[in-house]
Formats: sequence, structure tokens, C-alpha cells
Amino acid sequence: MKLVIGYLYGDLMNIYGDTGNIIALKKRAQWRGVEVEVRNISIGDRLKAGDADLFFFGGGQNQQQELVSRDLVLSLKGKAIKSEVERGVPLLAICGGYQLLGEYYKPQKEPKLPGVNLFPIYTVASHQRMIGNIVIRPISDIRNLTSELVGFENHSGKTFLKDGAKPLGKVVKGFGNSGEDKTEGCIYKNAIGCYMHGSLLPKNPELADWLIEKALEVKYGKEVKLKSLDDSLENLAHQKAVQRFS
Ligand code: GLN
Repeated sequence: MKLVIGYLYGDLMNIYGDTGNIIALKKRAQWRGVEVEVRNISIGDRLKAGDADLFFFGGGQNQQQELVSRDLVLSLKGKAIKSEVERGVPLLAICGGYQLLGEYYKPQKEPKLPGVNLFPIYTVASHQRMIGNIVIRPISDIRNLTSELVGFENHSGKTFLKDGAKPLGKVVKGFGNSGEDKTEGCIYKNAIGCYMHGSLLPKNPELADWLIEKALEVKYGKEVKLKSLDDSLENLAHQKAVQRFS
């Protein structure tokens, strides 16, 4: 099998180690004998159905977000991403990327940036910097996710869930979406948005495998169960983080 990872704006949106998620997805698929290709999909690139089996969209500062927001709308890539998610293609978006997949992101001084309306959320920049380690308890149905998720957050944007939005989890330690409602992230079909940098996936291997399995299932039209790996190091890092920060 082959997995094509669509790295959305990887040249612009990759702060706080988010590229580590691409490395984790690539290695965990290759360790199971899956061929992997990573495609950077950025400003001016076209995107059509089937171009990628899984999308990753990292974080970025306001300046990059302005450029990317304009391209998402004008190039119709936003519409293409949305229709791919509607047919089940998995996606992981972190922080700045997550914010641009909602209704809008309103920076402190600049005008509102229109979003893709994939997640029923909206984000407003605040004067509060929400920074630090974060631990959440997943409340949405992600098969095989048996424990908390751990990461690192650094954002001023407060994200609010609109009616019908499903949060990814409940905050055990940290701020989460807004620091106000104890929710973190949002999940819609097989798409996940959240504020968990870190990188998120190396310390949460079950989530990495869930994304890979979903991508291969949609692509090949059959159930996929990846063989287990020796995740003792990953699980040790995960447990240490949970113990230290929750
Ligand atoms: N500029 C956005 C904020 O501060 C996103 C930052 C990020 O991606 N870490 O909320």
C-alpha cells in the first residue's frame, strides 16, 4: 500500500515542531511496510480529489495565516479540502492551521481572516497568551485511543465551538480552545483540529496510527488494522508527560 501525506502549506505553517507530526506519520507507516510520499501543497498549488490520502496543517503566526487564508479561499483549495474530509479523508490541523479551518480567525489588529468552514468554530485573538503543557481526556469516539492526549500549546487565539461542534476532548491540564470552557480541539468525521503542538503525534502514537488506518481504509475501501509496534519509548514519554503535567 502507499500513503500520500498532503502537507498543507508546510513551507509556511510549521512552527513549534509541527513537522515532527509528518515524521511520525511517515515512519509509523513505513515501519509497517507502507510506501509513503509527502507532498507540500502550498500557495498557488492546485488540489483535486485523491491528491492526498491524509492532510496535515501545522501552526503559524498571523503573517503566514493571512497569506494562507487568502490562498485557501482564492485557489479553492479550501473547498477541495472540505470535500475530501466529507468523503472521510483524515486530517490533523494544529493551532494556526486549525483556526483557518473554522468560520474565521480575527487577529487583534488586522481584519478578520475568512476560514474554510470545515469545523463549526470561530477564533478571536485575545490579549492572553495561552502557553504551556496540556493534557486532555478524549471525549470523542476515536477507536483504539485508550489514554489521554498530551501536548504543548502556545496561542493567543480563543476558539469557540458553535452549535453541533464536537470537541476532541476535555482539558485536564492547560487552556485548550479558549481557556474558558474546558474543551480542547474539534473533531468532524475523520478530521481533527486542536492546539496541541509538541509535536503531538510522537508522544501520542495511538492517534498517529488512527490517522494512518483511516487514510488507508478510505483509499483502499477496506478495514485496515496496523500491526503493533514496540512503542515502549513513545509510551514512556507519554506517561511521563501525563504524570508531570496533569
Ligand atoms: N497566531 C495564532 C495564535 O496566536 C496561531 C499561533 C500558532 O499556530 N501557534 O493564536
